[in-house]
Amino acid sequence: MHVLITGGAGFIGSNLVAYHINKGDKVHVIDDLSTGRIENISLFLEHLNFKFDEVDILVWKELEKAVAWADRIYHLAAVVGVFRVLKEPISVLATNIAGCERLLRVVHSTDWNTKLIIASSSEVYGNRFEYELLSEDMELHISPGHNSRWNYSISKLADEAFALSYARQYNIDVTVVRFFNIIGPNQTGKYGMVVPRFVHQAVRAEDITIYGDGTQQRAFLDVRDAIIYLDLLSNNPLSRAEVINVGTAREITINQLAYLTKEFAQSSSNITYTSYEDAYGKDFDEIYHRKPNLEKLLRLTNHSPKWTLEETLTDLIQREQTKEL
Ligand code: UDP
Repeated sequence: MHVLITGGAGFIGSNLVAYHINKGDKVHVIDDLSTGRIENISLFLEHLNFKFDEVDILVWKELEKAVAWADRIYHLAAVVGVFRVLKEPISVLATNIAGCERLLRVVHSTDWNTKLIIASSSEVYGNRFEYELLSEDMELHISPGHNSRWNYSISKLADEAFALSYARQYNIDVTVVRFFNIIGPNQTGKYGMVVPRFVHQAVRAEDITIYGDGTQQRAFLDVRDAIIYLDLLSNNPLSRAEVINVGTAREITINQLAYLTKEFAQSSSNITYTSYEDAYGKDFDEIYHRKPNLEKLLRLTNHSPKWTLEETLTDLIQREQTKEL
């Protein structure tokens, strides 16, 4: 199979590269290396089945050719991470929406029946923590006002609407996945993600920085399970033109996560508390809990996660310790 991965040098993308190369597929990555890192794919650069182009999906002239070659496309190229979203509110909207629309337009212009997976995010559910479970068919609310945190959410909702409209109008074979707190190798804490930050801090005996009071909850899914879900969804015709949560059900507080990371790393770090305002600036809307309804995902894939949070943390701590040596 020929697999094109936009944003393939990023966290989820690079794990997908490893997965498909190991299966014997041919993989082509395009990435502008804005948040993606060449180290994430350096193992594959000389591989016969691997090709990398450092390009901007918005303007790259050979996108048509790359799309026509592909049996499957994962669209992951996006401006991501809370810190980056707050710092670059315009490029979040412009890049994320225009990149996705261009890709859909190009897929439509080729005759080849490519399977397209579009990455969306649990951020589209906004601040709906009055709900125990977040379901794909629930109504979505974006908080109005001057808070650019929600620009990411708006951009992903626009991508979803584009994807479903192309599916409806032109019969493009597309599936939208809403990722919920995916963690694992190659994820960087630079743009805000909590698990790589805590692991980095614990291994270096730096302060483990909890934002808020640490009672907020998240459910973390290992990326190696997430990509199995993506592969199974891609192979299931019933996922066509559907929006599907990809996550796990087990929630944990950020306090528990901090203590678990400290314990597993046998770290002498102090655990500290910083207000949301100091961490993210004024008027930041925090999400207190976020748990996916996984009925649809389980019905379409019949897969249960192989990695527990404890196993993922142990693995990430070991990798971080090796980096330190
Ligand atoms: N968080 C934290 N310390 C950090 C980074 C993040 O306490 O150094 C918190 C953050 O405020 C949020 C949770 O951890 O409540 C998850 O943050 P992340 O950015 O990983 O995911 P998201 O908020 O998008 O679910």
